[in-house]
Amino acid sequence: MKNINQTKGLTVENEVIEHANLGEDIVLTATDHLIVLAKGKMSAMDMVKTIESLTDLTHLYLEVLAKNCGVCEKCGHCEDLEDEDIKLPEYLLEIAGVPTDAKLCAYVEEDSGIVRVEEADYESDITDVPKDLRNLLQNYGICMGELDALLVKGELLHE
Ligand SMILES: [Zn+2]
Repeated sequence: MKNINQTKGLTVENEVIEHANLGEDIVLTATDHLIVLAKGKMSAMDMVKTIESLTDLTHLYLEVLAKNCGVCEKCGHCEDLEDEDIKLPEYLLEIAGVPTDAKLCAYVEEDSGIVRVEEADYESDITDVPKDLRNLLQNYGICMGELDALLVKGELLHE
């Protein structure tokens, strides 16, 4: 699959297109992390069916994420969660040799009066999940603390 992808692009078999009821007029939409093949011209019922399928797919993905994160019952991990990005003025980062778009993390010793900020050694955490999406995931029962831990680890999820 990988080789085909690199040389000729991706091939979709006719049976697959027929199974999806796409008809002759097909539109490909590439979004961040997803490519969608859908009917080019749709009736209202086509649109309803397409939205239904996208919703089913979303629920499928939510279930996988929920399985990996577990359900939260107001755990300590979630209560201590910092959901705001740490920001420093660019000139300070430049002097320190930290890329201005780097993710930062802070270390604090209680009552010391000192906050140590440095470049994080991971790529993403919960602050990279948009607030409205975070609310949706939380309402779904997903533990935000566990999700943060998985985002920091960056490992592949279990299906
Ligand atoms: Zn939790």
